Amino acid sequence: MRCPYCKSNKTKVIDKRDSDEGISRRRRECLRCFKRFTTYERVENVEINVEKRDGTVEQYDRSKLNKSIMKSVRKGSVEDEQVHRIIDDIESKLLSRKSKTVKSSDIGEMVLTRLKWLDGPAYMRFASIYRGFESLEDFEKEIKSLKKLNSK
Ligand SMILES: [Zn+2]
Repeated sequence: MRCPYCKSNKTKVIDKRDSDEGISRRRRECLRCFKRFTTYERVENVEINVEKRDGTVEQYDRSKLNKSIMKSVRKGSVEDEQVHRIIDDIESKLLSRKSKTVKSSDIGEMVLTRLKWLDGPAYMRFASIYRGFESLEDFEKEIKSLKKLNSK
């Protein structure tokens, strides 16, 4: 982070506040010219470990989650921005948890509850990938519950 006045890269953080939206506000002081300035930094690296179904653990990856949601969404049916908002929302939920490890199935469920209201067909596709429906019966049950939800 460079000082906007003298371009020095030696600055210190004097105050830090994190918002729910994954944006962190930092008040900094330049160690060379002693001017103060505020930066808003996106918390890009959500430091969370994801435990996969097979038990392996990997670092949470936003672009991966984005890709998997976009795969389920029909072109033009959902805006990129809406997907970003879903992910922002999930990330802030994950960050507010005490545990730094989350099951991939939990993330899948969080996506599902949000997709359900946004785009029914995308929800179904995502569910079939993430829940790995075991049988046609499971799949039909899911469609029925979705129809019930939409007719309310
Ligand atoms: Zn400076």
